[in-house]
Amino acid sequence: MTSQVVKTRFNSLLNTDTMPVLFLGHGSPMNAIEENEFVQGFREEAQSIPKPQAILCVSAHWETQGTHVTAMEQPKTIHDFGGFPKELYEVQYSAPGSLELARETQQAIKKTEVGLTHSWGLDHGAWSVIKHFYPKADVPVIEMSLDYHKSPQDHFEMASELSALRKKGVLIIGSGNMVHNLRRVAWDKLDEPGFGFEWALEARMKMKEFIQDGDYSSLIHYHRQGKVFELAVPTPEHYLPLLYVMALKQNNENCSFFNDQAIGGSLTMTSVKIQ
Ligand code: ZN
Repeated sequence: MTSQVVKTRFNSLLNTDTMPVLFLGHGSPMNAIEENEFVQGFREEAQSIPKPQAILCVSAHWETQGTHVTAMEQPKTIHDFGGFPKELYEVQYSAPGSLELARETQQAIKKTEVGLTHSWGLDHGAWSVIKHFYPKADVPVIEMSLDYHKSPQDHFEMASELSALRKKGVLIIGSGNMVHNLRRVAWDKLDEPGFGFEWALEARMKMKEFIQDGDYSSLIHYHRQGKVFELAVPTPEHYLPLLYVMALKQNNENCSFFNDQAIGGSLTMTSVKIQ
């Protein structure tokens, strides 16, 4: 066990071709243990991209004062939810951390001071999806927190400073949900694939248009987009990881969508690959 971990440790930031960037709609924590089309979608995407040397994940489920990255050798699996079956609490995702990538991230971001922390680990925004990409947990993972004092514009600008990491074998993942309104979930329709309220489907369509058109201004100023966006993004944390991903798109790259489905009326699993 120990020797395997040592072998897979993130030893050096080697230059590589530019890695893709992913926004992953993570949805219910149950996706960690269920077999469904979304999980299959994650697995298929994993096959479509080069295996990274390490992963930097910006998760909706880690909001802090200031910006922090995890810097422990072995991040713990955090079960940051309540009321789910015991089986879900027993999941351990034992990917190593990477102090080296944490330091590299800290250095890449010039305009904001980034703290190294040992006090977090991997929350379900990270492990519930990454485990389907790399089930052997053999790719080191660090998380970067969302500073709740920053504006969407600040987040976008800071994210763009991460671009050099893409050429060092680092897969940057934003994990959230573009449309995410838990107060409006149609609990009786959770089993109906693709069910979305009209406002949720309209918000999804507009977000996808903004993404395809490279209309970053509209994505950043989402609160100016009217009622459907108010309903789709009642709080920013599940939406902001999308801005991290879009900030990293280069002009010569394309966006593609996968797992592009509404669920429970008021959520979308729509995920984006930039490559
Ligand atoms: Zn979530």
